[in-house]
Amino acid sequence: MTNTAPASPYGLGHRVLEIVGITFVFVALTFIGFRIAGAMGRTRDLIGLGAATLIGYLVADFLSGFVHWAGDTVGDETTPVFGPNFVRPFRYHHVDPKDITRHDFIETNGNNCIVVSPILGFLMLTMPKTTGAYFYCTVVVAFTSWFVFCTNQFHKWAHEDHPAGWIRALQRMGLILSPEHHATHHASPQNKSYCITVGWMNPLLDRIGFFRALEAVISRVSPGALRPG
Ligand SMILES: [Zn+2]
Ligand SMILES: [Zn+2]
Repeated sequence: MTNTAPASPYGLGHRVLEIVGITFVFVALTFIGFRIAGAMGRTRDLIGLGAATLIGYLVADFLSGFVHWAGDTVGDETTPVFGPNFVRPFRYHHVDPKDITRHDFIETNGNNCIVVSPILGFLMLTMPKTTGAYFYCTVVVAFTSWFVFCTNQFHKWAHEDHPAGWIRALQRMGLILSPEHHATHHASPQNKSYCITVGWMNPLLDRIGFFRALEAVISRVSPGALRPG
């Protein structure tokens, strides 16, 4: 692991793409926020909104764990597409966990914004103006996208030595990823607590051996695809 190369050179072209992605996400979420507010009317709509928010947070937390586990565990830095974009940054993060704290807002959040931009664009085109089953599906996807956007920022804050007081308060309340919880992932052998949005999914996934089961399946289907050790 100590031979893991640092993240790819950070080119101007990619930074422009990140700025475009972040800008689009803010525009899209503002549009979607007004669409949601316009559809709210009855008390049960607010209950539905609360449930969709919670589900979106849990789905984003699960996705953060799944992608993080894959980056830490599957393939290597030469794997096409996945290697340079996921394997290298996640494994380098274990070599230098403080590197993420030296990234500015754009470098921290740009990639996740690029990933969720097409999804939010689709929601802008298809989100109904009134509540209903499809409306709440789109709200869950919208909140999942929002919390995917938040994930790297929460992860970065969990590695900062002196986060702002309000951030530390959210961490202490367990409402975003806390340094104490995330330290259980960085502790040897670094094979649990992969979820890095808030970490609420970690106890369940670790208890049922979710990632060990995935590794067992992969080692049967494609021996050699997993990182040695
Ligand atoms: Zn990791
Ligand atoms: Zn970390």
